[in-house]
Amino acid sequence: MLIMENVIDEEGLKAFQTLIDEARTVVVCPHVNPDGDAIGSSLALQHYLVRRGKDARVVVPSQFPDFLRWMPGAQNIVNFARHEGDARALIEHADLIIIADLNDSKRLMVAEQAVLESKAPRVMIDHHMNPGDFCQLVISHPEMCATGEVLCHLMWQLGELEHLSVEEATCLYAAMMCDTGAFSYASNRPVIYECISRLLALGIDKDRIYRNVFWTASPARLRLHGYMLYVKLKVLNGLHASVMTLTNEERKLFSTKNGDTEGLVNMPLQIQGMRLSIFLSEDTETPGIVKVSLRSVDDFPCNEMAAEFFNGGGHKNASGGRLESTMEEALRRVDEAVNKYAHLLK
Ligand code: 5GP
Ligand code: MN
Repeated sequence: MLIMENVIDEEGLKAFQTLIDEARTVVVCPHVNPDGDAIGSSLALQHYLVRRGKDARVVVPSQFPDFLRWMPGAQNIVNFARHEGDARALIEHADLIIIADLNDSKRLMVAEQAVLESKAPRVMIDHHMNPGDFCQLVISHPEMCATGEVLCHLMWQLGELEHLSVEEATCLYAAMMCDTGAFSYASNRPVIYECISRLLALGIDKDRIYRNVFWTASPARLRLHGYMLYVKLKVLNGLHASVMTLTNEERKLFSTKNGDTEGLVNMPLQIQGMRLSIFLSEDTETPGIVKVSLRSVDDFPCNEMAAEFFNGGGHKNASGGRLESTMEEALRRVDEAVNKYAHLLK
């Protein structure tokens, strides 16, 4: 059996335990537009804290996709953008704030100011590169496939891994599964499968979790994907790169729901030899913003491209950013970016 890994030193572990012991109310905050890892790790933490007698809540900066609603506890998540009063009150009265799956306070968006102004100590649990300096305790492991994995190891260090409830284990598995495309990328570290083995031993139904996340398409979602691949996919001349764009008008045409575009950016990578996929979509909540999603394979550094051209960042093979521009301007920016990186895309 592989052994689990230490994600924090003894002193940090003690500090973490003390922070939890001394807190009565805890708020867990993941990043804006939370994905499966953000929601799964936040909910796993919430269940764990509730089991330890804490009054714990998850506050998200913005809506999360419908395909995550089945997760145990998802119905009690507070959306800051929708219920600002409740969210502010929770953050203001928290004794402890845990920042989950997030490295930069800017990615708290509308919740950033409230979180930074709160008197509560902050703990970051994350796997993004370059953790920001806004938390008293930082548990950050970019080599790990998901914040869910960081939490598995942390639970093990706390002596809790064998005692997790099925709900906690389900959320942790879902978190890892979502950030690795069901273990099809960023998932070569053998210890990941040790984590999975231990979660299975707790009674999770991984096949059902897979279906809950990936087989939830509506006819509208499938038709949107068909349209995007048939009409909108542009493979760039002479380069192993592709671009797709989606406007809010088109979303209306397909009665698109939140989350229906999830996974779309990965699809062009199925083309043989494809190295980079770029997906531009108009923000549904803020007019005048184009969201940028980048996915790559092997050594192509999406995060560098995202930082240099799209006000963003992320992981080497999965990054994103945003542009305050029209779609046409965003496409010109893509041209510049692709030209700069053409030597890696030929
Ligand atoms: P997605 O394409 O799923 O929206 O984002 C993929 C990854 O890119 C995220 O997990 C995150 O690490 C990163 N990312 C997305 N948007 C931004 C952004 O606006 N700023 C930064 N720094 N990273 C982002
Ligand atoms: Mn993540």
